[in-house]
Amino acid sequence: MQIIGITGGKGGTGKSAVATALACELAKNFKTLLVDADVDCPNDHLLLSITREIRQTVKQRIPKWNFAKCNQCGLCGTVCKTKAIVSIKNKNPIFTSEQCNGCGACALKCSQNAIGWTEKQIGKIYQGKNYNVDLLSGELKTNEPVSEFVVNELNEIIQEIKKNYDYIIIDTAAGIHCPVIAALEMCNRVFAVTEPTPLGRHDIKLILQLLQKLNIKAGIILNRADIGDKGLIYDLATDARVKIVAEIPYSKDIAKKYAEGRPIQDEGIRKMIEVF
Ligand code: SF4
Ligand code: SF4
Repeated sequence: MQIIGITGGKGGTGKSAVATALACELAKNFKTLLVDADVDCPNDHLLLSITREIRQTVKQRIPKWNFAKCNQCGLCGTVCKTKAIVSIKNKNPIFTSEQCNGCGACALKCSQNAIGWTEKQIGKIYQGKNYNVDLLSGELKTNEPVSEFVVNELNEIIQEIKKNYDYIIIDTAAGIHCPVIAALEMCNRVFAVTEPTPLGRHDIKLILQLLQKLNIKAGIILNRADIGDKGLIYDLATDARVKIVAEIPYSKDIAKKYAEGRPIQDEGIRKMIEVF
């Protein structure tokens, strides 16, 4: 069983199109699970025309005040970095649950033991199937600050069910922030999708540095390979000693399939599978 990450330094490079296409190609011969870990804006189900059903909700702990114990000292608000607590001396604290990340600093600060715990729902995990691909899709609720918790829940499900699959493809969010790292840490190898532009080169460089730090085997997929200067990415790949495993051309057919919610089929993706 292999867990393969598809990632990218910036949005719009075609990361999800590549992840869905790869999953569909593998699913022709292998048990394949696609995990949409771009939980702020999941869209793999749209690209595969999957109507998702809820598998489970994702919850996060939040503080709950016992005002009978509170002496209105106002200290809990002083340690809340996310400004979820407004506390004024001689008044009960006012709490905004949407801004709370569950860090626990307020409860630690309270000498009166007036802060306990409850939960809030911060997201959902969906499931579905099409093109012989099983899909897990995480989605963070609007206004919630910590997408990493939804990714961690996806990771726990992957651990439980990975024995049922030959390949698991994880489509991460773009960038190098915590939820991306949480998703990448599950992977045996990762392919970073980019375009032959100065912006594409800049962002892929950061991703490759991150993958090197995480000690994960990396490859590059050059999407819309004919729209710019391919040398920008080939030079970088040579310097970083990373292989460009597929080139996908800019094509009207691919754009049409993308718009219609059908997976792209491309020779580059098929060749890429030979690398596994
Ligand atoms: S730190 Fe505890 S006692 Fe002080 S205001 Fe907050 S909840 Fe009340
Ligand atoms: S748990 Fe952390 S983020 Fe939430 S209210 Fe307490 S200090 Fe603020």
